[in-house]
Amino acid sequence: MKNIAKRAGVLYALAAAFIVGLVILTAQFAVNGGAWSSNRFNRHIYTRGQIASAGAITDRNGEVLAKSDGGKRLYHESRAVRKATLHAVGDTEGFISTGIQSAYRQELTGYSFLNGIYTLKKYGRGSDIRLTLDANACAAAYNALDGRKGTVGVYNYKTGELLCMVSAPSYDVNNKPSAMALASQEKYEGVYLNRFLSGLYTPGSTFKVVTAAAALENIGDITTRSFVCDGKLELPSGTIICSAVHGKLNFEKAFNRSCNSAFAQIAVELGSQRLTQETVSLGFGESFSVGALATAKSRFNVSGADEAQLGWAGVGQHTTLVNPCHMLMIAGAVANGGEGLAPYLVDTITNPSGIVTYKGSLFKEKGVSMPAETASRLSGLMRSNVENYYSDSRFPGLRMCGKTGTAEVEKGKQPHAWFLGFSQRDDLPLAIVVVVENGGSGNSEAIPVAARVMKALDGGR
Ligand SMILES: [Zn+2]
Repeated sequence: MKNIAKRAGVLYALAAAFIVGLVILTAQFAVNGGAWSSNRFNRHIYTRGQIASAGAITDRNGEVLAKSDGGKRLYHESRAVRKATLHAVGDTEGFISTGIQSAYRQELTGYSFLNGIYTLKKYGRGSDIRLTLDANACAAAYNALDGRKGTVGVYNYKTGELLCMVSAPSYDVNNKPSAMALASQEKYEGVYLNRFLSGLYTPGSTFKVVTAAAALENIGDITTRSFVCDGKLELPSGTIICSAVHGKLNFEKAFNRSCNSAFAQIAVELGSQRLTQETVSLGFGESFSVGALATAKSRFNVSGADEAQLGWAGVGQHTTLVNPCHMLMIAGAVANGGEGLAPYLVDTITNPSGIVTYKGSLFKEKGVSMPAETASRLSGLMRSNVENYYSDSRFPGLRMCGKTGTAEVEKGKQPHAWFLGFSQRDDLPLAIVVVVENGGSGNSEAIPVAARVMKALDGGR
């Protein structure tokens, strides 16, 4: 009897273990089913480890960026467009996790948890995805980067549509370099990374937009203050170096000329708490959703910083790192009366029966916001930068507003060149961010890239 009871106990234990295992398996299948079915070993969808049968990906004008034909994945006929849209479309093998072919593979391959690959078997493919991107503008941005690493992003600040998202280095999917070359050559460093969404950079003087916002909100008489720059600001704990001897300036001129002495002084007056508060309210420390994709979190930390470090933080140096997509949203907030929409990349998803199953414009993700009054004053200051300092002639007919940055990085390396701005034209409500890694001066290297891309989006005028 004892033995039987023991055996029954063992059986019960085994049965219980089996049921628990089944529950875990089912739960995992529900969570991972899509990934399991459409992983690259599934022969129905992948041939020799490559995505073969899937819906088409087009740009906003219907240009086909990727499609399947006869079990092969085909890409745009222009090499420049293929390279410029690599990070948006994704590669054939799925190494670029932020690419549409990875992030939306369930939709593209027609997999659903209930039906498995039923849709694929019935129709031979999954849904088609139309992006908000403009392929020509992406190619213009890639060409303007001219072999340098970096990123360009442009979006409509009134709707959130992302028109340009380019990350360099890139490669041609139709002529992929060897795995060895991609892994070891300096020119391909971080090639699978989408720098716009996942990159983090020292912002340099583009951060003065944030410091200026804090000043406008916290220092009542900031616009009538005057500053004196003798090429540096000496503080007990260190010296802030300025790019020039600017002499006497008011707040607007200090912003125009990007005076470090004045802005470090403003940062010290604001103090670490108020400056930190401003960054938090503008979305530092947060990840934003661009559809199914997520941005890297911008970082601002001045806890324990001395005055000189706080001064450097106020001019976009110290330990601060920003994500380009997040900076674009801040520019969007300035341009759009304080409401910085989150960008979106997927315009529509259409199933094989022609039914639209997803519309990006209906899903407003959380963006960044600032008081309308701050946005309006920053907009005036950024317009003044172009009108009175960079020159409108560099952005013909665009009515641009902007702020450059020349972000100091490691010793012995050129600084990162930045431009953050937007057009005030009602018929061209576009904001842009440009980062040229180790490109040098923002004024001389990032502005021409921005001007070329904006021109391409302004009908090539
Ligand atoms: Zn100065």
